[in-house]
Formats: sequence, C-alpha cells, structure tokens
Amino acid sequence: MQARVKRNMKEDCIFCKIANGVIPSHTLYEDDNFRVIFDLGPATKGHALILPKCHYDNIYSIDEEAASKVFVLAKKMAGAMTKAFDADGFNVIQNNGEEAGQTVFHFHMHLIPRYKNDNALKLWKAGEAKEEELKELEQKVKECI
Ligand code: AMP
Ligand code: ZN
Repeated sequence: MQARVKRNMKEDCIFCKIANGVIPSHTLYEDDNFRVIFDLGPATKGHALILPKCHYDNIYSIDEEAASKVFVLAKKMAGAMTKAFDADGFNVIQNNGEEAGQTVFHFHMHLIPRYKNDNALKLWKAGEAKEEELKELEQKVKECI
C-alpha cells in the first residue's frame, strides 16, 4: 500500500487545491513537493507558476528546505521552457505582500519567458544610490540578520 503524504494545506486556498490536484490544471511539471502550471493571465507566451504543494503564505513563512528547492526547480524550468518556446530571455519573479503586487497568498514563483521586443515587463524606474544612505541601510540589515 502506498503511504499517504500528509501535507500542510490551507482551507479555501486556490493554489493549495491546484498544487494538490483537487482542481485540475495544465501541469508542465510535478514532483512530490511542487506543481508547475500555466498562469491564467500570462504576461507572455508560456508564463508559468511554481506552486509548492504545502501552503506557505509568502517568502517570510516558507521553510528553508522548500525555499532552496524552489530555485533549483526554477533553473530546471527556465532551461526547459526557453528551449521549448524558443524564448530570448527569462524572468523569475516572486511577489510578497499586497504592496509588492502579491494577489494570491500562497507562495508562488513566476516563470516568465521573454521574447525580443515583447515589452511585457518594466519592473522599476532606476533611482540614485546615495553613499550616506547605503551605509545606514547596510548597518540596519546587518543588525537584523
Ligand atoms: P501574484 O500577483 O504574484 O500574487 O500572482 C498571482 C498570479 O496568479 C497572477 O499572475 C494570476 O494571473 C495568477 N492566477 C490567479 N488565479 C489563477 C489560477 N486559478 N490558475 C492559474 N493562475 C492563476
Ligand atoms: Zn495554499
């Protein structure tokens, strides 16, 4: 008999349901810990999402083991998707919190193939780094690690 894997899922979380196959999806890749699906509102052709099968709200609560595995999987998918879609580049994006653009509160990583002249994303307007401020910020972060 196959052992049932007990996973930490959250009730009424759509990505928990998709990741665990309760809601069907086009699945590009699946293993014990993750499912990769196409985004329903794609930024470009082939835009996909890595969903952990366990529920974590965001980067603050994901455990370190899952966090390290997710980037290894992102690398694998970037290679495969770039080849499959003949893409010219690739963005890996991960939003945390409403202010950062997160709209579904189950950790996920965006895999976005890029194509010449697609003009699909402009992520930020470059500001200006100031020496004094950098010194202060550097100190603050060091105190929090
Ligand atoms: P974020 O803004 O980082 O939270 O990204 C959420 C993403 O999930 C958006 O790009 C949505 O288009 C996508 N999305 C929302 N619901 C679904 C769904 N049921 N299946 C696939 N993608 C979805
Ligand atoms: Zn969830």
